[in-house]
Amino acid sequence: MTPVPHVELLLRQHGLQVTAGRLAVMRAVSSHPHVTADVVADEVRAVIGSISRQAVYDTLGALVDKNLVRRIQPAGSAARYEDRVGDNHHHLICRDCATMFDIDCAVGEVPCLTADDDHGFEIDEAEVVYWGRCPSCRAARSETTSEPGTDAAERPSGNPKRHVTTTDSTPPTPTRVQPRSSEQ
Ligand SMILES: [Zn+2]
Ligand SMILES: [Zn+2]
Ligand SMILES: [Zn+2]
Repeated sequence: MTPVPHVELLLRQHGLQVTAGRLAVMRAVSSHPHVTADVVADEVRAVIGSISRQAVYDTLGALVDKNLVRRIQPAGSAARYEDRVGDNHHHLICRDCATMFDIDCAVGEVPCLTADDDHGFEIDEAEVVYWGRCPSCRAARSETTSEPGTDAAERPSGNPKRHVTTTDSTPPTPTRVQPRSSEQ
């Protein structure tokens, strides 16, 4: 049996003992970018069986503390985990289906980390989330709103343009998703 030596090395370099649980958690996060803790727990338990959900959550927490795993907490939804750490990349999230994409910091290296006034802090992360709707959800919405009259009702009054992205911290507006009987 040859576990991924790269992951073992990372754990050791960060002062963590190499255990089957930690290896399995790292692998689950690596193979499913932006995974939820529940999915990680399911994967890990499928691989090594004899580990409690709580132990998996604790392991995830320890890996986040050591900066081996990054935790993303989108407003109004479950935390996600990824192993792409240290580059201050941002995320683009669909309001309807919660699909998440990595987005590099807009210009140059990591401009968001260069605050106008850093108040003496050593800043290491800027939490930027682009909210919007992915192409398939947009297509689904235009199908369900193609009848004349229905689209206008959805639009906030006095706002002719629908904002598809925001960078503020307001939670995503709950959307009425029409249940679709079949995928088109
Ligand atoms: Zn979507
Ligand atoms: Zn990411
Ligand atoms: Zn940025």
